[in-house]
Amino acid sequence: MKLLDTLNPEQREAVIRTDGSVLVLAGAGSGKTRVLTHKVAYLLQEGIAKPWEVLAVTFTNKAAGDMKSRIERLLDSDLRNMWVGTFHSLFARIVRRFGDRIGYSSNFAIYDRQDQHKVMKEVLNDIPALAPFLNYKRAVGIISSMKSRLRPPMETGGQLGFKVDTAELYQAYERKMKGYNALDFDDLLMKPLELMQAHPDIANIYRNRFRYILVDEFQDTNITQNELLRIIYAKHKNITVVGDDDQAIYGWRGAELKNILNFPRTYPGGIIVRLERNYRSTNLILQVAQAVIENNLSRHGKTLWTDIESRFKPVLISSFDSREEAVAIASTIQDLTIDGVVRSSIAILYRTNAQSRVLENALREYNIPYTIVGGLKFYQRKEIKDLLAYLKLLVNPSDGVALTRIINFPPRGIGGKTIAGLMEYASDNNLELWEALKSIDESSELKPAAQKKLEKFAEMITALKQKAESGSFIDLVKAIIDKTGLIDHYTKEGDEESFARVDNLREFIAAVEEYVKTYTERTMDDFLQEVALVSETDEWEEGDVVSLMTLHSAKGLEFPVVFISGLEEGLFPLIREGEVDLEEERRLFYVGVTRAMERLFLSYASWRRVGLDGMPSRFIDEIPDEMLDDWTGFRRHYSESKPLDKYDRQPPPAQTSVQMFKRGDRVVHAKFGEGIVASIELRNNDEMVTVFFQGYGAKKLKLKLAGLKKLTV
Ligand code: ATP
Ligand code: MG
Repeated sequence: MKLLDTLNPEQREAVIRTDGSVLVLAGAGSGKTRVLTHKVAYLLQEGIAKPWEVLAVTFTNKAAGDMKSRIERLLDSDLRNMWVGTFHSLFARIVRRFGDRIGYSSNFAIYDRQDQHKVMKEVLNDIPALAPFLNYKRAVGIISSMKSRLRPPMETGGQLGFKVDTAELYQAYERKMKGYNALDFDDLLMKPLELMQAHPDIANIYRNRFRYILVDEFQDTNITQNELLRIIYAKHKNITVVGDDDQAIYGWRGAELKNILNFPRTYPGGIIVRLERNYRSTNLILQVAQAVIENNLSRHGKTLWTDIESRFKPVLISSFDSREEAVAIASTIQDLTIDGVVRSSIAILYRTNAQSRVLENALREYNIPYTIVGGLKFYQRKEIKDLLAYLKLLVNPSDGVALTRIINFPPRGIGGKTIAGLMEYASDNNLELWEALKSIDESSELKPAAQKKLEKFAEMITALKQKAESGSFIDLVKAIIDKTGLIDHYTKEGDEESFARVDNLREFIAAVEEYVKTYTERTMDDFLQEVALVSETDEWEEGDVVSLMTLHSAKGLEFPVVFISGLEEGLFPLIREGEVDLEEERRLFYVGVTRAMERLFLSYASWRRVGLDGMPSRFIDEIPDEMLDDWTGFRRHYSESKPLDKYDRQPPPAQTSVQMFKRGDRVVHAKFGEGIVASIELRNNDEMVTVFFQGYGAKKLKLKLAGLKKLTV
């Protein structure tokens, strides 16, 4: 039978074992997703199940679409009645149909985070006692994590460290949401669960219908999702899940690794299938992945092998700064494409969204079309557009769009009514908005308090305008951020999304610094114009383009060529507010490496931005040296290029008594030439110095023997 011919014996076992529970616990690229698609096809082809009797859950809508079309291709049939999709998209249907039983009409709205924030602001207004302890974003975060961990308020005891009654908060929020006939994302899972728990007749409808359940990426399910599955499973007791504990990367969002580890107990009497053969990556790529993941202590360990011989050794690209890194990546991509590699087979992965900015620049410089998967391009992000609006307004006070964009952002109490009043005043007096703002007086209809706020805003802009005329571009950007409190605004909010926005703003400062340094003769106007053009000429979404995405978005995908950039301590592993979940970061690294089929490039920069000290990631240290080819971003080329040896002709510095060095010192080395001291540490009683050499990357040397000489200029 053809369908089964393309599977190995273990995969086949997982497919033909249609009844009972099956857990496929296996490493990356071992064909877990393939087992699922083939199993669905098998169930249908053999007439074991009708399309509507199958519930297939995947992690993203894209994955669901892929699965459907793959099965359709395998079977040449139409699967409109089959439930294939994400947990959220599938289970929301249950609420659409039966929501009236718990007080929701079927036309309920789905509120996203922003909507939730608005609701929460109202809640905190209504309960003044809570407001001093909680900001609305954090409050939404608390509610969300309670929901994904399935802890209704009654069970928590409800006391946070700072004595806020979460039960009260929860109930007040729920009342409001119900009043609006709205559900948030967590509700899309919680409510169907409530419905099925409280109404056996509803549960029975789905239990009876879904005779076969299949779930991909099971390691990243949360408690609520597992409960939903359990309820539906109860009747026919046929469930197949696939997952990899080494790829659990959503702990921060409430995923429970226990779901997969306890699977045999929750769904007893089944089999566990282990797949050990990887069909995706070459042996050297797998070795790199394994060398790193082995450092995780809380791990069950599994074998993974491949017989795909490597034609290319994985590469480590060391660069001086993030721009050099980006250019090294872009030029390598250019070389690859000249060699015939298609762009769509190349992916660049990074830990945080903000990192895309330098990469985007370099790709554009090299005329390499790209797309950002699952995110916005840098200059299209909200916080960047806000900051740009300030700059635009300073350059061109007539820019009414820019003015209205930021007049109340960050919030300064200038409401819609006030803005309307200002506009009216402007048109009555035939003034531009900015002129109106400066000259507004009693003749307007505005209340004195509102007027006062407008005046304050105008003063701030005027002060910034002066700065724009007298100071440097970079100082101006810093002053804007400082005076408007843009970064503070997001830092205070303290959730994941806000942190990412802060990253982006900091990255913007870096962009300006870089611009000023690179193009000394150009001005802020030039910068703004170039940025505007960049955002407009981006038509490269489809077709043969390079994919950029965060490591999280890369889950489940595969590419012949993968770059993982920004491998620096503090960035990857990512440390935020002094906190890091090292093992989860390491799993994320494992996910990244195992996306690569043939070629893997790891890269880091010794200088990125203030706040990062540019030490190579510990994950790089965990890979034995001989597994990686060392390149330097400086040389920028994967084909052999000549090392720069400008210091070879100089006499080696004398072996003198050990000089005192400190971070940031410029030094010269007999072989590696000029460099900058990145760190000094004591190891086995020897002082070890890490120096970043242009053209050679970071080297760790014994200070005593290195013969380094300090450069004073
Ligand atoms: P991940 O953990 O990254 O999600 P996975 O275990 O789901 O990986 P798949 O994506 O299903 O792995 O498979 C990885 C690659 O190996 C795919 O290109 C797939 O087509 C191929 N593959 C899997 N099994 C076989 C097989 N038996 N014969 C040939 N190719 C296979
Ligand atoms: Mg998969």
